[in-house]
This record gives sequence, C-alpha cells and structure tokens, in this order.
Amino acid sequence: MSPVTLSAPKQVGKPQPALPGGYAGQILRVDLSKRKAWGEPWTPEQMRELIGGAGLGAMILYRETRKGKGNVSWDHPDNRLVLGTGPLAGLPVWGTGGLTVVTIGALTNGPTSTQANGFFGTNLKYCGYDAIVVQGQAKDWVYLYIDDDRIEIRDAKSYLGKDTWETQDALTRDLGMLGHQLSVYSIGPAGEHLVRWAAIQGDYGHVASKNGVGAVMGKKKLKAVAIVKGTKALRAADPRGVVQAADDIAHDLKTDPSARSLYEYGTLPGVVNLSKMGALPIRNYTTSVTGDVDMKSWEAPRLREGFDHRGHQCNACGMHHCHMSVIRQGPYKGKIVDEPEYEGWSGAGWTIGATDQSGIAWLNTQTDRACVDVNEFGWVIGWVMEGLEKGWLTKQQVGLDLKWGDVAGANRLLQMISTREGFGDLLAEGVKRASEKLGGEAAKATTTARAGRRCSTRPRRRRRRWRPAIPSTRRSSGCPRASIRSTAWRSPSWSRAAAAGAPLRTHSASVSSPRARGSRTFAVRCPRRRAGITPSPKP
Ligand code: SF4
Repeated sequence: MSPVTLSAPKQVGKPQPALPGGYAGQILRVDLSKRKAWGEPWTPEQMRELIGGAGLGAMILYRETRKGKGNVSWDHPDNRLVLGTGPLAGLPVWGTGGLTVVTIGALTNGPTSTQANGFFGTNLKYCGYDAIVVQGQAKDWVYLYIDDDRIEIRDAKSYLGKDTWETQDALTRDLGMLGHQLSVYSIGPAGEHLVRWAAIQGDYGHVASKNGVGAVMGKKKLKAVAIVKGTKALRAADPRGVVQAADDIAHDLKTDPSARSLYEYGTLPGVVNLSKMGALPIRNYTTSVTGDVDMKSWEAPRLREGFDHRGHQCNACGMHHCHMSVIRQGPYKGKIVDEPEYEGWSGAGWTIGATDQSGIAWLNTQTDRACVDVNEFGWVIGWVMEGLEKGWLTKQQVGLDLKWGDVAGANRLLQMISTREGFGDLLAEGVKRASEKLGGEAAKATTTARAGRRCSTRPRRRRRRWRPAIPSTRRSSGCPRASIRSTAWRSPSWSRAAAAGAPLRTHSASVSSPRARGSRTFAVRCPRRRAGITPSPKP
C-alpha cells in the first residue's frame, strides 16, 4: 500500500494565539474509509475547556456521532475512536505518559472512556499531536504508522491472528526499532473477531479494557497503532515549575503513609485488604470466604517474592508497582508475565475459584495477549463454572468441563471466545447477553447494570452501591490508580504541575461526556440478592 501523505494543517486567516504549555497543538485525523490523514489544529480555548484526552474525546464524540436523538452504533463507520493524551504527557511528571480511549463502546453501545499507561502519549506528543481521531472503516486490515509528520496506513495482514505481545514484537522487529523507541497499541484475536469485551493493549501490559473498545478498533479493521518517539519539542509554560512540582509529587508518593503502599505495590494489597473486610469476590461472587487458603501468602511482599521480577515503569514514571515477572515453578515455569494488579488476581483468580498464584499470573497475561477485559473475563468464566457445577450448563453445551480454579481450562475457553469458536461465540457477547439468551437459572446467576457492564471486580457489597458503581461502569475511567490521580489533581503539588504545564482543572471535570450524563438513567437489577448466597463473614 502506498503511504498516505499528511495534509497541511488548516490555516486560519489571523495569527494563532500562543498554545498553553504542554500541548502539541494538533489533532491527527484519520479516515480509514477514504485512506486519508490530516492534521487539525485545536484552539487554546478548547484546550483550556477540555483539558485532555477524555474531555476532547467526549466533545468529539458528542459532536460527531449523534444521529437523530441517539448516537451511531458502535460498529458504524461514523463511530469515532479517539486516542487522546493529557497536557502533562511528554513532560517529566509521573503517571502521565499514557492515553485515554474514547468511543461508542461495543458492550453497552454507549459512550465510554477508558485509560491505559505506557509510552503512547509521550511518543505521540513528540510527533506533534495531542490526539488521534479515527473514523471510517478500512476495506482490509491495516495498521497506522506515525513517525513525526510521516503518517502511513499500512497493510497489516501479516500480523493477523497474532496476540498483542506478538504484534508488538513483530512490528518492533519489522520496523527496526528498539525498546521504547516504538509504542504499539494493538488488538489481539478477540478484537479481530469483534468480541464485545475486547480491549486495546500496548507496551506489554497496559490495557484500555472497558466497554469493548478493542471491538471498535476491530470493526475499523485497524490492527495496531505504532508510534515512533518523535523529534518535536514540547513546551511547558513554566519548565522549572513542572520539574519542581513533579519532584514534590514523587516525594509525596514515596513518603506519605497513605501513598507509600501504592508506590511500592500498586493495587496488590487489595486482595488481603478485601478479604479482611469479608469482601473478596470469590467463585462468581457466591461467597467471600477464603476457606483454608493461607492469606499470609497473599500479602503484597510475599506475592511479589514468589516471582523473579523487575520494574516495568511507564514513561517518566518512578512508581515502583509495575513489574514484569518470570514464573519460577509449575506448569508455566519460565513464562514471562506482567505482574497482575488486584483486578488480575481477582478476575483471573478468585472470581473463577483459582488460588494458584503462578497459574493466575499466567492466565492474567493470557487475557492481555488475547486482549480482553480481565474483569469481564472473570464474570464470564465464573458464570460458566457455576453453571457447570449447578447443572444449568452442560459439558456438551460448553464443549469442555470446567471446575472451579481450572486455569488451563479457563484459558482454553478464552481462546474459544477470542475466535468465537463454539460456545465461545455466545460468551463473546458478554455475560449479560449470554445469560439472557439462556434464561432461567443462568440469567439469575449474574449481576449487571441494564446497560451491560458491572464495575470492576470489587467487593460483592459494591453491587448494592449502584450509585457510585454506575458512573464508573458507564465511563469506565479505570482503576484505583486513576482515582488516586483524580484525588492527586486536587493536591497542592499536582495543582502546581498543572498550573505550570497547563491551566488547572480537576481531572474529574474532564471524564464524563455530556452524552454520558444524559444517558445515565438506566435501572439496575440484582437477581443474586436471593437466598442461598453464602454470607460474608463480619469484618
Ligand atoms: S503509575 Fe504505574 S501504570 Fe501509571 S504511569 Fe506510573 S508506572 Fe505506569
């Protein structure tokens, strides 16, 4: 395929006002149907109003995907896939180098935003863009290659069927790059087969997981976005202030008692903390009793000591919690895995009745590679396991027998889901649609919001706290780290960083779209509030 030539940015008649610090000043527009790409400036006023990727994406979605009173469907060519960054991406501030994905999601068919970290945001900024907006659908599989102003829509047929880690390996090798020179965000087989809870994964282990954004990318036949670390300068309004504020943030995170554990272990302590609260979601949320499992071995330091590991931080981030590990023993000995966060230990572990740590770590990475949301994975597989145990699903129906804790069987089912093989085709629709299709006891054994998503694998009790659960489900801005960052935005050091790099607004102001606010009126049902669920022990 011939490269796409980038059009010159549109010129406005009068001289442009100076950009606020932290912005590259252009949005990269890509129309896959027309095989065109062009740069589009956005104004300082919009930057101040919308702040970053989520705000910009919400506005683009609101303006460009409405049809009549509703939005276009997730699989319509007019759906937009916005891959946006924030004003601090590319500056030396911890936790800011990633991206936000905003689109009409495949699971709820509603607007969504979901976030991942890594190097994408930084590489994109250094190429001169604040965001990528993809529209249309390609005829054949393509990937998007960005290297400063060289924008190419390239043939991706040779990468089809590869998982996300294989895709990144192959692209890095084929493009002759090393390490973080190239940031790749791609979909795995699940996205290619339009699994409604497929994710977008990048930089080995960072996943924009919520609401089927990977299926949207698959529908556009966009296998990957590969961005070379660009060469363009990025200006901060007050460089000295940014560095000073970033140092303050780092110091606070390392020394503040409330942040120290997050700095060291991320969300690992969540497993033991929730078990102490009697709130760990176990065996498809039928119990929170850990039984005879030695919970001391689930303390964060012990969890990490069980693996050979090393730090795997994102761009300019000194947080110590991201690790790559090597499994030391058992059937998966020698496999390299991404250390699971709490949601991995739960979704690929406790929710499906698994307690073998090596097996869970391997399975969690398998979900990243096939590229699905590990939370929905736990709900789907746990639901199947409960059905097989209680008899409202049969081995013949599923195609294999699955007992609680069967990690290898869960992976087999994951592969079937990723290629929509056999019973996997139904499960690829998500647990809500699958359970409704089967009806009867099967429909009662899951808990969802009517729109089709639950929040993350948080405590069972959370199911009764729908008011906070629904917005996070709907917008899916992500994990506890994100909420820490939301809080941090209001702390003095973050405020200073924002003031130095860009005008200050709270993070939370930018995450929910006008469309999301307007549509947050759905009811919820909780059929599992019924007799027979094992009660949680008192904390
Ligand atoms: S806090 Fe963790 S996930 Fe976030 S940017 Fe830093 S290393 Fe990456």
